[in-house]
Amino acid sequence: MSDVFVKDKRSAIMRSVRSSQNASTELKLISVFKEYAIKGWRRNYKLCGNPDFVFENGKSVIFTDGCFWHGHKCRNVTPKDNSDYWTAKIMRNKKRDKESSKILKEKGWQVIRIWECELKMKNKTKLLKKLLPVIQYNQSREH
Ligand SMILES: [Zn+2]
Repeated sequence: MSDVFVKDKRSAIMRSVRSSQNASTELKLISVFKEYAIKGWRRNYKLCGNPDFVFENGKSVIFTDGCFWHGHKCRNVTPKDNSDYWTAKIMRNKKRDKESSKILKEKGWQVIRIWECELKMKNKTKLLKKLLPVIQYNQSREH
């Protein structure tokens, strides 16, 4: 099977998919934070694996993972073309996710990983369950 995209073009597409996907999931999560008055998070905080949100005082980090790039089994999104290429890429991401979670946990951080699909309305209960540690941290700050 021949390569559909020239290499450069493919990387450009990958970059744009990754950044737009990530931006929208992060924004959705921020709106959930607002809705539930979850405060105390920081972005661009330098930590292993570059978590999307860091609650420094609550010792918690949140990653928002795109279902495609991080290999969630919620839907079959691997394209037929170049499937070996994508599979290898996704496997590398999964491996890296696992490693950074492990390192952070060893350093005493609570690691929360939110899947892109969990930000859908119908999955809200699941999402809030995952966010419980930061919700509780916020409640304890108020007293
Ligand atoms: Zn998913």
